[in-house]
Amino acid sequence: MKKIEVLESLVDALKILPGVGPKSALRMAYFLLQRNRNGAQNISKSISNALEQLMHCDLCNNFSEEPQCSICLSSKRDTNSICIVEMPTDLLMLEETHSYNGLYFILMGRLSPLDGVGPNEIHLSKLIKRIKNSNIKEIILATNFTVEGNATAQYIKELFKDIDIKTTRIARGLPMGGEIEYVDSGTLAQAIVERKAI
Ligand SMILES: [Zn+2]
Repeated sequence: MKKIEVLESLVDALKILPGVGPKSALRMAYFLLQRNRNGAQNISKSISNALEQLMHCDLCNNFSEEPQCSICLSSKRDTNSICIVEMPTDLLMLEETHSYNGLYFILMGRLSPLDGVGPNEIHLSKLIKRIKNSNIKEIILATNFTVEGNATAQYIKELFKDIDIKTTRIARGLPMGGEIEYVDSGTLAQAIVERKAI
């Protein structure tokens, strides 16, 4: 590759990050090359390590270094309930509230037909399998209170309507349009404690 092509390909690579356009990608590339070459090495190594070593947990779909993650394998968790969230960050937020001790399932997204995200992309067949092979009695829908998050919760509720499992939705202590990731831990704790049957 010629020098300029090398730089272009770095800029193109950085542009895949959310919210990064051509100008900020170019600024990032200059910063990494000129100001922080060690940091750049570090990013490069960390990304390839993560790609090599992280997989999805067979049970909850979260990222894990083992086929089954530590939450799923823990004997201290309540195996009667499963909380369904959009992203791993939502799980971390819920764990921080110390108000919930059950299991999780991470969709890794939300239904969004316009962006080509359908039931397959949010791993619903894995969720169905997970729930069938368990003694789960309550499904807690903790997707975001956005249009897409609500539609996803509704869709999942319909999936399980014919089996004998209670379905609840976290309470609306969360603001409309609210994303779990940005809610303070007190509000989120209240939302999970005051969840309602739907
Ligand atoms: Zn797991």
